[in-house]
Amino acid sequence: MDCDPETRVDLHIHSTASDGTLTPWEILTEARNRRLGAISITDHDTLDGNQEALRIGIPDALNFITGVEISCESPPFFPCAGSMHVLGYGIDVRDAAMLEALSSLQTSRKDRNPKILQRLNALGIRITEAELATEAGNGQIGRPHIGAALVRKGVVGSIDEAFDRFLGNGRPAYVDKYRIPCASAIRLIRDAGGVAVLAHPGLLRSTNGALLETVMADFVHMGLCGIEVHYPEHTTADTARFSAIADRHRLLVTGGTDFHGAIKPGLRMGDAGGDFHVPFHLYDALRQACRKQTS
Ligand code: AMP
Ligand code: ZN
Ligand code: FE
Ligand code: FE
Repeated sequence: MDCDPETRVDLHIHSTASDGTLTPWEILTEARNRRLGAISITDHDTLDGNQEALRIGIPDALNFITGVEISCESPPFFPCAGSMHVLGYGIDVRDAAMLEALSSLQTSRKDRNPKILQRLNALGIRITEAELATEAGNGQIGRPHIGAALVRKGVVGSIDEAFDRFLGNGRPAYVDKYRIPCASAIRLIRDAGGVAVLAHPGLLRSTNGALLETVMADFVHMGLCGIEVHYPEHTTADTARFSAIADRHRLLVTGGTDFHGAIKPGLRMGDAGGDFHVPFHLYDALRQACRKQTS
């Protein structure tokens, strides 16, 4: 279905399959109610939410592109302190190699959660695995769920505070997890018929002083096709900077709110306030790039 090129879209959304609070059905309904032109569900390390959305059926008036947000290990030329996430769009949600790789990431999450709870326990904060399971439902458990449990217990006032005091990198309950090397994630995405996009570059801080400007060619060499220019936490200067990088390397420009429902308050699907606006023509270009990739 075609839309006006300026119609709003949201290409970065989490469902209950990972650490979002809306089910795939609720996401499709909300996207329709908000008259978005297109969406992508981009859960952390799982395609379960996409499979469910496709099973339910995409409403006629909405465009949908499959998605995933893969937890990656940053490459040696750009070691990062922040979360290196690679988005994969337009992938086959039944691709065996992709599902196998995601399954190993899911196992590493399962191994990590008890270790985080042990660290909290050592700090005198007791959260049981059963309590954590209540926060997460059937989805992949992430640190935001542990943050939500800490809020529920009254240990902290917000999930942000939980990250600042306990769960963030370098904080006392932080535990690292296995991540897929960037190059492998990009390869898996391409082999599954999709295009790979660097998520929220504004959140990345290289620990060796390298700037994205100087290493982008290396990412492109790995097969990266796009960059998430539009992101709520990007400043106007960030957005201009990442647009220039996209122009220079002829990359796709994408964007989304990183909607997580109640776990990340203050955002609405497709709308992060101010002049944040991801237009339909960016979705259209992404869709066409996926077609090229598979043809
Ligand atoms: P995990 O997949 O368990 O490593 O958790 C990643 C999720 O934690 C992402 O959805 C982020 O939005 C969220 N997150 C990471 N750092 C922070 C932070 N400092 N404050 C709030 N949320 C965060
Ligand atoms: Zn998340
Ligand atoms: Fe992310
Ligand atoms: Fe995300």
